[in-house]
Amino acid sequence: MSAHILDGKAAAAALRAQVREASEALHSAHAIRAALAVVLIGDDPASQIYVRNKLRETKAAGMLSLEFRLPAQASQAQILDCVARLSADDCVDGVLVQMPLPPHVDASAVLAAIDPAKDVDGLTEASAGRLAQGRPGLRPCTPWGCVMLAKQAWAQLAGLHCVVLGRSILVGRPAAQLFLAQDCTVTLAHSRSRDLPDLCRQADILIAAVGRPEMVRGDWIKPGAIVLDVGINRVEKDGKAVLLGDVAFAEASLRAGWITPVPGGVGPMTIACLLANTLTAACARRNWPLPAWLAKL
Ligand code: NDP
Repeated sequence: MSAHILDGKAAAAALRAQVREASEALHSAHAIRAALAVVLIGDDPASQIYVRNKLRETKAAGMLSLEFRLPAQASQAQILDCVARLSADDCVDGVLVQMPLPPHVDASAVLAAIDPAKDVDGLTEASAGRLAQGRPGLRPCTPWGCVMLAKQAWAQLAGLHCVVLGRSILVGRPAAQLFLAQDCTVTLAHSRSRDLPDLCRQADILIAAVGRPEMVRGDWIKPGAIVLDVGINRVEKDGKAVLLGDVAFAEASLRAGWITPVPGGVGPMTIACLLANTLTAACARRNWPLPAWLAKL
């Protein structure tokens, strides 16, 4: 039996359409468009593509998209000044600093300059603290997208064993917290964990976020499990550049119940969740109620 595919493209398109409808409603009611400011430092080619896509989708969702570019040699003080200005600017609802930053920049200091009320990437200490304490807040986009996709497979996740591979601040740690908030039993594994294949075979929900092409093999999967592959690995295969996930898709889909492809799985959800966060921030800053569907996500 082959697994059902969790179609992130379709799920993301549906979420973006809901955000767009709510954006237009905000505009009709209050003559306001939520505004997302994206700061790009340096000229990393992958980051340029990510930022271009974010700006395009922000506009398509009926929001204002503002782009700020600084050269790779920009000083820490210049970057902090830019982020602090956007945090203080009343016209801006969301501030996102595209990672990774050039090596001379202290990423924690830059994140600390983002007003937590505008932290649409959910990466500040305030957002992480709220998530860890089970309080409402802006959630990191990629793991939030994972929860939404898992719910497409099983509406009720309570009591399921979720194993998260990878403990980064961007994906693994918040994924563990978000699935805990769904009343899953969570195991957070990393490069020092023992017997990963055996750990993974205990997972009803397996999230792979390690950045190692096809590390998770088919016999690591519990039959019927939900497999969410966050990995995006650019590798050369037969002389061609291809994108591979962290899961060996063909093998894993023979055992999984549901699985995300790469590309077209978790990836598209990231920007859709960013737009949902921007809408949330725009409403929360003005003490306006969230649309009911957004409050329930
Ligand atoms: P990081 O490199 O920051 O973290 C990788 C994590 O995986 C670390 O916790 C590391 O453990 C763990 N790890 C590495 N090797 C192994 C191993 N052999 N066994 C067990 N654990 C291991 O990566 P990110 O979390 O930022 O990203 C992970 C992947 O997800 C990447 O491929 C990235 O491109 C992709 N990604 C995709 C996004 C999307 O939108 N779909 C968004 C963000 C990332 P330790 O802590 O012990 O070193």
